[in-house]
Amino acid sequence: MDEQRLDGNAAAGALGEVFAFEATTAGYACDACGGTGVLGTAMVYEVRGLGTIVRCPGCDNVLVRLVQNPGRHMIDLRGTKYLQIGEISG
Ligand SMILES: [Zn+2]
Repeated sequence: MDEQRLDGNAAAGALGEVFAFEATTAGYACDACGGTGVLGTAMVYEVRGLGTIVRCPGCDNVLVRLVQNPGRHMIDLRGTKYLQIGEISG
């Protein structure tokens, strides 16, 4: 697999095509380790020809999988307990 590791903000374009809010500022909780953060600080892997993978910086769990085909977007959030928008508090 030909993938390139980038910082979380690299997913802004792909996430912006799916979510109506600025997803890189959304808080998350990792389903594997319980770690929390904002998507813009997570690790992003662009997989050429497949899509975008966002991984937890704490445990490497896949938080978000985005697959883009012409006219269609698929998103898999099963590695994420939740996404939170709005004011993020401790
Ligand atoms: Zn984690």
